[in-house]
Amino acid sequence: MATNETVQYGAAELQPGETKEGLLAEAADLRRRIRHHEYQYYVLDDPEVSDAEYDALTNRLRAIEALFPDEVPADSPTRRPGGYVAPGFTQVRHKIPMLSLGNVYSAQEMRDFDRRIRASLPPDAEVEYVMEPKIDGLACSLIYEKGRLVLASTRGDGQVGENVTANVRTIRSIPKRLAVPAGETVPDRLDVRGEVYMSREAFWKLNEERTDAGGTEFANPRNAAAGSLRQLDPAVTEKRELGFFAYYLVGPAEPPTQAECLRTLEKYGFTTPEHWCVAKDADAILAFIEAHGQRRRTLAYDTDGAVAKLNAVWEQKLLGATGKDPRWAIAYKYPPEQAQTRLEDIVIQVGRTGVLTPAAVLAPVKLSGSTVSRATLHNEDFIREKDIRIGDTVVINKAAEIIPEVLSVVKELRPAGTVPFSMPAECPECGWPVVRKEGEAAYRCTNPRCPALGREGLIHFTSRDAMDIEGCGPSIISQLLAADLVKTPADLYGLTKEQLVRLDRMGDKSADNLLQAIAKSKEAGLDKLLFALGIRHVGAKGGRILAERFGSMEALMAADKETLANIKDIGDVIAGSIVTWFANPANQELIRRLKEAGVKMDMERRRTDATHVFFHKTMVFTGTLPTLDRATAQAMARAAGADVTGSVSKKTDYVVAGAAAGSKLDKARALGVTVLDEGRFLELLRGGRTGTEAPAPADGAAAGTAATPATPADGGMDALF
Ligand code: NAD
Repeated sequence: MATNETVQYGAAELQPGETKEGLLAEAADLRRRIRHHEYQYYVLDDPEVSDAEYDALTNRLRAIEALFPDEVPADSPTRRPGGYVAPGFTQVRHKIPMLSLGNVYSAQEMRDFDRRIRASLPPDAEVEYVMEPKIDGLACSLIYEKGRLVLASTRGDGQVGENVTANVRTIRSIPKRLAVPAGETVPDRLDVRGEVYMSREAFWKLNEERTDAGGTEFANPRNAAAGSLRQLDPAVTEKRELGFFAYYLVGPAEPPTQAECLRTLEKYGFTTPEHWCVAKDADAILAFIEAHGQRRRTLAYDTDGAVAKLNAVWEQKLLGATGKDPRWAIAYKYPPEQAQTRLEDIVIQVGRTGVLTPAAVLAPVKLSGSTVSRATLHNEDFIREKDIRIGDTVVINKAAEIIPEVLSVVKELRPAGTVPFSMPAECPECGWPVVRKEGEAAYRCTNPRCPALGREGLIHFTSRDAMDIEGCGPSIISQLLAADLVKTPADLYGLTKEQLVRLDRMGDKSADNLLQAIAKSKEAGLDKLLFALGIRHVGAKGGRILAERFGSMEALMAADKETLANIKDIGDVIAGSIVTWFANPANQELIRRLKEAGVKMDMERRRTDATHVFFHKTMVFTGTLPTLDRATAQAMARAAGADVTGSVSKKTDYVVAGAAAGSKLDKARALGVTVLDEGRFLELLRGGRTGTEAPAPADGAAAGTAATPATPADGGMDALF
């Protein structure tokens, strides 16, 4: 039923042109997209969209769900926290769930929260709140037995988190043994909760190191903290300078108020949020929010909001929680930070595929605690749409992103004589003409030998997701090119120490390290190599699919276009690009030289755990899974060592089936293939090892003990995509 007029559904309204069926389908799609982004964010620590975009998706979902409350599935992202347990970590079932927090964005919503609280409590209850900063990190639960730290875990999905005990032990501000004042005893078991975070300074330093080493940057300190805590090697965590603020003490030893809880935590040797206070009404709440809004810029770490918590624990218990958030607490989120500055220039960078990308050069301005002098401008269409001109005053936005973006132009401040921007007709690197193909946003340099291609291609080859040659970042590559020591990636493998030590700021030790990293990269594996070669349209996923399908470079080179095009997720365009690339004699020579240098050219399952139940199992996914989108589910299976294929046969070990699964499911049943639903799939995925399929035992640490850190040799999160 499409409507021309507004129709009431419960408290909310259906707008003209919307149908119930259409909105429910949109909600289902939103849930899948949100889960996907949560997976990128919580498991891979590598968000694909900004927090604002993610929040917009969840707000839209909430709005639709408000129209049809009876149609909201219990596992909707609006009803449970969005964390997952990444393969490679043992699981911990939280005795008391770890909840998220509801968010508000305005003073009015905060007053509504206060009104709601008062209306829900007995009339004679005394209402007061503890106000704390909302630290932008990740929640962690620490279990102490007889005063000693025995188990630490992440929030995960709120019920089951990841065992990060060994990593947490490396964080200096977390006591391994509680400080017990003379004459006092500590309870036998304590569950302390708080936030692991990374200071801005440590974050900048880390990102600098990563880019120098040719790696990618973390988007913000929160992702950096999460990526650093959720490491399979505690030695890596130790280097990352993480901090911890404790803010909850839950379970039987819980003090009667939140204020008391913070004091007790301090007594035991924890660092609690630096600034907190007790607020007796909405005005006092708003005063804290205002004051913290000023103060937070001066802090060494990010706080993205302020949290109001009912002080009396008995009142908290009375109000309880929704599936996801406590009803007795709320977070006020500060709007993303913006600043105005002058756009001094637009420079053009040429990437490894010859694409010209414009970037804004800004008069330096302070934003979210850092000095910003560059912002992305994406492409010509983006600049035209916003009519951004050199000389303009622009508003830039940093939000949670580390790469600032130009939001808008302050047209009233536009000086006389500015002109609309257009892309140059010639490549700034080599002077050859540039072209924009129909239907593409990008301009490309037409010179197949443009120096930018070689340089950027080398930078890509050595980057973390490709051959991962640590210490071989853009500045080293520029020097190697300038000194005529390398022209193609194959030349890297012939470098000698004598050549390297002649480079700027390259000591004996750095040269040794670089040579070692280059030698190590020979073992990167066929999938990484295929990605590293920079074949157009072959990304990290394409490299993996091709490596899995052909098993060796030789077999891939022998494949014709039709065979390639028939592979799922490859198709005509990629197949054409691969065939063209291998037909080029210069590329054949490159492969020959890489092989001669000893670069591994066959498939190796480096990062999987041979004892995992899915290891070397053939799996097929069919139908719509309730929460995971298919690509994510398949990637999770692959990360555990499974071969994911498209059709069911006698050789199929598992079929993971969701709603509306059709003939594949029928066939699986006919052939007697084991069929899993999403829940069972995740259970087995988490359960991991052959023979230890059962998920969490009832108490505390599951599928591993507190003393057992995350295990599989190298089965990390970064193996997922
Ligand atoms: P949240 O960060 O909005 O709030 C809950 C968390 O706040 C708690 O779990 C705890 O870790 C933390 N916290 C900090 N200080 C606290 C204090 N003093 N007391 C209690 N808790 C405190 O919720 P979330 O569920 O962790 O994350 C949701 C947010 O994450 C979204 O709003 C979005 O901004 C972001 N996100 C972004 C993406 C993306 O793709 N960009 C994906 C998923 C989530």
